[in-house]
Amino acid sequence: MRKIIYVLLFILCLGLGRWGEAAVLEGPWRYCETNETEAGGVNVPALVRENSADWALFDMENRPPLSGKYQHILLTVKVSNQDPQKNVLLFMTTKQAVRMWLDDEMFFSRGHFYPQRYDEGSQPYMVALPKFEGEAQLAIELYSDSPTHLGWFSLFSLDTEQMQMARFFYSDIPLVLAIPVGLAIIFIMFLYYRFNPQGWRRLYAYIILFMVVFCLWLFSVSNVKTLFWDYPRVWWYSLSILAYILPLAANLIPRELLKGKKYARMDIVIWANAMLFVTAMVGEIMGMHTMNGLMSLYYPVLAIGEGAVVYWCVRAAREGDLLCRSVLLPIIVFTSLGVFDGVSGHFYLLPWHVYLTPLGIYAFLYFVVGILREQVRHEEKLLRKTAGLEHKAALMQKKSETDALTGCWNRNKLKVLLADAIAGARKIGQPFGMLMLDIDFFKKINDTYGHDAGDAVLRAFATLVYKHLAKEHECIRWGGEEFLILTKITEQDELLALAEKIREQVAAVPLAGHKITCSIGATLWQIEQDSTDTLFRRVDEALYQAKRDGRNRVIFRT
Ligand code: GH3
Ligand code: MG
Ligand code: MG
Repeated sequence: MRKIIYVLLFILCLGLGRWGEAAVLEGPWRYCETNETEAGGVNVPALVRENSADWALFDMENRPPLSGKYQHILLTVKVSNQDPQKNVLLFMTTKQAVRMWLDDEMFFSRGHFYPQRYDEGSQPYMVALPKFEGEAQLAIELYSDSPTHLGWFSLFSLDTEQMQMARFFYSDIPLVLAIPVGLAIIFIMFLYYRFNPQGWRRLYAYIILFMVVFCLWLFSVSNVKTLFWDYPRVWWYSLSILAYILPLAANLIPRELLKGKKYARMDIVIWANAMLFVTAMVGEIMGMHTMNGLMSLYYPVLAIGEGAVVYWCVRAAREGDLLCRSVLLPIIVFTSLGVFDGVSGHFYLLPWHVYLTPLGIYAFLYFVVGILREQVRHEEKLLRKTAGLEHKAALMQKKSETDALTGCWNRNKLKVLLADAIAGARKIGQPFGMLMLDIDFFKKINDTYGHDAGDAVLRAFATLVYKHLAKEHECIRWGGEEFLILTKITEQDELLALAEKIREQVAAVPLAGHKITCSIGATLWQIEQDSTDTLFRRVDEALYQAKRDGRNRVIFRT
């Protein structure tokens, strides 16, 4: 890539530095209009020799107005071989057939010298002059059906081959610099399209479409293309068709951005582009040369249409639409450069021939960066929203598994905890301990002090139990004033010690101002022969036994 840039810069310096030194043909140029041709029995070199004194002066850079009555124009100029190295002609013609003679020798002929159904096209040519001594007469015959194009040469010069090559590539520089940017945008958008299903995929697809059309157009306007395939007519039509499709493809992007905005009548603009394209195509097929002829309608339609798009995008941007704001720059730049290039090229307003539209790609890059920035913002927002939702869901889940009064787990959670405990016990091949607690004569507290006092006692009871539980143990409110404790304890002694400690503490400390006691049933999960039913039956029996034996005690059942 760096090498290519160096070569381009070198060519640029060469082009700029030595531009003025191009060989000057021993002018002046003279011309005459005619309908007589060699085919009609007239020898052009002879005609030049005989009548050259009567011919009018011809300004190469600014063609004089023609009568419009003739299809042929003959041009002539003297050349000398003072510098034999400078023997290559570079020039470009549009919709014209060309023949060239040096004295009596015809050395170049391109195109047809009679009316054609399809246009001749536009193409740069590099032609070497035949060898000659001293001075010679260069005669050129141009033929065109269209008076607007007849007699126009672009880039005409005589110079050394290297200089002509430099000139040839020089006008391609904006295109050569734009194509890699276009390809990079296509690549980035493709990645976003392919790997970001939540993104604005349709927008990405439209951008890819526009960039593909744009890159093809860039290639079609380049000079380099003729080195690949020297077929002026094909390139001329591909250029014309792409020029019509370009605004069509481009307008799909603001159409997508302005979707849902009632004031934005994007479809009208797109239909106008499409109708113009179809009319131009149909007319061309019917032999009416509308592809080029309708260009004088094409540019006003482009300017008006894109003016409307800019207006709608400004409105949307005022409403806070950031993408519509960032698309404004490329629309304005592309439209201005496109209209400028088109009008100046179509009406031969400038002596030089360089397209400026390709530079619009850098404005488009600004828009692409805008999209990527918006996409990142959008994703961050989604992420925050998802995180918020997940947090909410987790809270809801916790709520659905927690007892509101005591903060212990409720029965919903018990199933999960029990399954985990059983699985854990099976894995390590060790039992786990379970306690069932029931407050003694709790009904009395309710009856004597009221339900609220009962609630306060329940809360204080749960708090106290938690105080004596290690983190790995779980406490579940089984119902009313009954609680279950699932432990990771594997030994009977250790389990009984924990139960005793809780029982003692309950009896020792008044809870919410009430002295209470509790009874506790204890058991161990027997790995092989146990089921949850037998486990619960055992712990229940142990608790019942504790109540029967006088309450405020712990009973273990194996
Ligand atoms: P025992 O020593 O045999 O366990 O006697 P008890 O009175 O504790 O037993 P019983 O099962 O007869 O009474 C439990 C009472 O707990 C019945 C019910 O009114 C009360 N209760 C159940 N849930 C709540 C609650 O959420 N808040 C309050 N304040 N009381 C409750
Ligand atoms: Mg009870
Ligand atoms: Mg009770």
